[in-house]
Amino acid sequence: MLCDDAFDRYLHKSPVKHTILLNGFATAYSVRHSRRARNLRITIDPTRGLIATVPLAQHEQTVEPFLRKKARWILKYLSKAKRLEGKTIIKHSKREYEKNKLFVLKTVKERIAFFNSFYKFHHRMIRIRNQTSLWGSCTRTGNLQFNYKLVYLPKRSVDYIVVHELCHLKEHNHSQRFWKLVEKMIPDYKQIRRSLRQYVMQEG
Ligand SMILES: [Zn+2]
Repeated sequence: MLCDDAFDRYLHKSPVKHTILLNGFATAYSVRHSRRARNLRITIDPTRGLIATVPLAQHEQTVEPFLRKKARWILKYLSKAKRLEGKTIIKHSKREYEKNKLFVLKTVKERIAFFNSFYKFHHRMIRIRNQTSLWGSCTRTGNLQFNYKLVYLPKRSVDYIVVHELCHLKEHNHSQRFWKLVEKMIPDYKQIRRSLRQYVMQEG
């Protein structure tokens, strides 16, 4: 005889696929029966999609009304999960920030010195921060800030980000003139920009 856990695992292996119309959207979901679950619950798994876990004692007929009740939540999180499909998620951690910020500062300073021997732009402070959505920024007063998460990127991407912010010292916009400046040092900048879209930063 199977113990509870093994029985649950056995049931989980073969979830039954269904489709329901939620606010006009055909939404696929699977049903799992669980001995351990006390209440009907829904989860969204990045690879398996929407899953309803039903306690063994509960009838499956309760699932559809429950999904309809939660339609807004489900649709919101399903579209979020879809957006994250195939992306590299970089989670923020204070420990990683403390561990890497000096290394990133040193790297960035070296690369700025290297590229600025060509551009010769004037900048002020260089800081490493924990930005939640930016890789780097350049203030109107000429301070350059970079995200410690650059530590997770390939060297070529770091170079592009450094050059991007450096060129903002001259062109504080994303005009044609700005991109021409970037291109002088990073001819394949378009490709690198595209590759950066695979990363998603997340808090906590
Ligand atoms: Zn920019």
